[in-house]
Amino acid sequence: MTVIGLDDTDSRTLGMCTTYLATLVAEAVEARGGTVERRLLVRLNPAVEHKTRGNAALAIHTDLPAGAAFDLAREELDRWAVLDDDRTSPGVVVAPGSPDTVSTAVADFARDAVRDFHDLDDAVALAERSGFLTEGWHGGRGRIGALAAVGAWAAFDEWTYEHISYREFHRCGTPREVDVDSVFDAADAAYPDAWDTVDREEGEGVCVPNAPGPILHGIRGDDADTVREVAAAIDSEPVDRSATFRTNQGTDAHLRDGVVSDLRDGRAYRVAGTVASDPETRRGGHVFFDLEAGDAVVAVAAFEPTKRFRNRVRALRVGDAITACGEVGDGTLKLEKFAVRDLVRTEPATPVCPDCGRTMKSAGRNQGYRCRDCGTDAPGKVERAVDRDLEPGWYEVPPCARRHIAKPLVRGGFDAATHPER
Ligand code: ATP
Repeated sequence: MTVIGLDDTDSRTLGMCTTYLATLVAEAVEARGGTVERRLLVRLNPAVEHKTRGNAALAIHTDLPAGAAFDLAREELDRWAVLDDDRTSPGVVVAPGSPDTVSTAVADFARDAVRDFHDLDDAVALAERSGFLTEGWHGGRGRIGALAAVGAWAAFDEWTYEHISYREFHRCGTPREVDVDSVFDAADAAYPDAWDTVDREEGEGVCVPNAPGPILHGIRGDDADTVREVAAAIDSEPVDRSATFRTNQGTDAHLRDGVVSDLRDGRAYRVAGTVASDPETRRGGHVFFDLEAGDAVVAVAAFEPTKRFRNRVRALRVGDAITACGEVGDGTLKLEKFAVRDLVRTEPATPVCPDCGRTMKSAGRNQGYRCRDCGTDAPGKVERAVDRDLEPGWYEVPPCARRHIAKPLVRGGFDAATHPER
């Protein structure tokens, strides 16, 4: 077995897409008589600033000998990577041997690439120590992602699928012709085995990207046959080629358990705390509140693109106990999902006269309340029940705002009730 890892071949402005390049490499493998056993689409730390879009790295598992695989991958990258964009910094790492048996160091590198940051020098040194073949262009920063893609199969247990259909290359940059009704029908029929295909409330086909690259649509789900069936049921312009990837999308692989007092920028956390300020909607429609635990406080934000999720956030009150999930940047946790653990159910209120039913008046400083008409009194405020528009359990951003790596609630495995968006 041989593993070919690839990354950083595309450009934000000039197009391309590393999944497409991996698909071309896989075709070249087959053209040379090799077998492609598996294609991995690995999402790395979404906080990495060099990323073009979704911080994806790719791996191909094949029976072609490592040397031949390396030559072929280099040829395809030379031909297809967008080297006209100085920001594109492609890398290839080819590992002889089975992806199950990479060293602990390589698997750890992959795990850390999803949750943390790496140096290029460390990546190159580890690849060389491991006996892997490497090549970089324009500095070759892509060797970080390529090495992570090599280690990913051993590093992670949870894998989902994405079936990507590509456009005819000459159409790239023109509006995609996809029949939205057929997308919604196919999505309905396959839900929840296929998820994040559409956003029902927004009326949006989430599986059809807006970016200029060659992807026509990408169908995500838990089952390979289902994602292929959904893709086949969509009416569209011609599909030029397609491929099914195993991926760590929809798994929350980026989240680590953390505490409010010890959060660092560029990492994503699951963190417990108490709502410490009423949620406030600021300019642009972004909603902010403070979350505290002990003496520590962190700002939490639900940004405008998270749409109806902000109503769930606005329904929080001071004193609610929650678990918040999201990436920390500039000291603010950008909320992807939260679990309500305990809701404040009462609030202090001025007592009501038991005889006439009217609100009592203050009887003077520290002297409680009194009903002047009836002569009844009360020693202080009473607890009044409040209506809550939330229930215990998990709430999430809608499909239109989902990060690639974030796990949709409908996939299950959460530690409380769930309120999935679809
Ligand atoms: P593409 O479709 O080309 O893969 P992308 O959005 O995935 O686009 P890249 O162009 O691949 O972004 O850019 C990400 C860059 O960051 C790559 O060079 C990759 O090697 C590097 N990188 C990925 N994860 C990490 C990490 N955890 N630490 C440091 N660098 C990283």
